[in-house]
Amino acid sequence: MIAIPAAGRSPAEIMADLTARKVGDRDWRRGRLAVYFYWLDEELERVQQEAYLAFWTENNLGQRAYPSLKTIEDEVVGMALSLLGGGAGAGGTFTSGGSESIFLAMMAARNKARAQRGITRPNIVLPNSAHLTFDRAAEALGIEVRRVPIGADLRAVVEAMAARMDADTVALVGSAPNYPFGTFDPIEQLAELAMARGAWMHVDACVGGFLAPYVRRLGHNVPAFELSVPGVTSLSADIHKHGMAPKGASLLLVADAADREWHKFESRAWQRGPYAAYTTQGTRPGGAVAAAWAAMNHLGDDGYLRCARLIMEAKAIMTAGIGAIPGLAILEPSDLCIFVWRATDPALDVGKVAAALDAEGWLVGRQQEPDGIHLHLNPIHREVAQDYVEAVARAVDAARGGHGARIGANEGTY
Ligand SMILES: *Cc1c(COP(=O)(O)O)cnc(C)c1O
Repeated sequence: MIAIPAAGRSPAEIMADLTARKVGDRDWRRGRLAVYFYWLDEELERVQQEAYLAFWTENNLGQRAYPSLKTIEDEVVGMALSLLGGGAGAGGTFTSGGSESIFLAMMAARNKARAQRGITRPNIVLPNSAHLTFDRAAEALGIEVRRVPIGADLRAVVEAMAARMDADTVALVGSAPNYPFGTFDPIEQLAELAMARGAWMHVDACVGGFLAPYVRRLGHNVPAFELSVPGVTSLSADIHKHGMAPKGASLLLVADAADREWHKFESRAWQRGPYAAYTTQGTRPGGAVAAAWAAMNHLGDDGYLRCARLIMEAKAIMTAGIGAIPGLAILEPSDLCIFVWRATDPALDVGKVAAALDAEGWLVGRQQEPDGIHLHLNPIHREVAQDYVEAVARAVDAARGGHGARIGANEGTY
């Protein structure tokens, strides 16, 4: 049992205690985590922290009291819309993360279909590589989920998704890119299908939103996925991923600002008066939106291009190096910053390779299907790309040595 201490502790004691508790945490600044963090340099870190602190306790629900936060939020949404194909009538909402953005999109799709099409038993159709947060949202919203197997090219199969749609389908989903493989679904064709059937089309660009446009500018082939694609209704983009902001920052963008009303809650059914919100949160941290604004303004297009270049260079080094290790192969295709490698040699246990990497301090992302290792790269990985390749080679040798622990395919997924 733990209770609030009877007597308060000093600030110095508090900080010493918190710092001491971090000893067992992974040092993400060294780039040895395959997931969870995004880091460029100390200057960006300082900008994030100072911006957050400048609004650290301001409540972004209370824009009446803090008109600054309204202008900051509007600018964040506006900058993202101009990056991601928003036309004159587009709109958006700042949220706490990709899961909230996706929840709001699914709620809006359900509410719109109920109001306009009388649908009372809604379903959504999505490729089975889509993020599980869609299933979580659907569970809460009373929506049936229809996951459709992806093709051998690791992308959604449009005809198969069409076949699973019916009169109660309220939304289609495509990823740009998905999390398991880093591949883009054929957004243009899915959006065309959604439009033909009167369904909401959501593009999950939580990973790609702030990276894919810049990777394209570097000359890589990135298919159209933006709000400008005909039939796309909404798009989620996480600023706290490749937007390089601290946690608690994502966007739900809509091609038509009027569609925001479908995820708005409004009531006056209490004594206090009207209450309205476009988010699932009430009180919202001002620091999160200020830090997102600061990251976007500090990096600018140049900074995001630099991030994209570092990531693609890291990927090139890692995929070439790992692909050259006998018994290993890179899963193809992979379009952006995520890739999977696996053992082609049946005598080689990826679980043991993973354990050997872990023992060297690399936090491994285990892939369930196919049995392999998953990486989600961010700019700092450029510095450790060659080290990683060498660590993998050593880990393979250790695994072939036959002894040692293993990390199963169901460990370390989230
Ligand atoms: C991270 C992610 C999400 C969920 O976002 P959170 O910010 O973790 O809630 C959704 N979709 C994709 C493709 C993601 O990578």
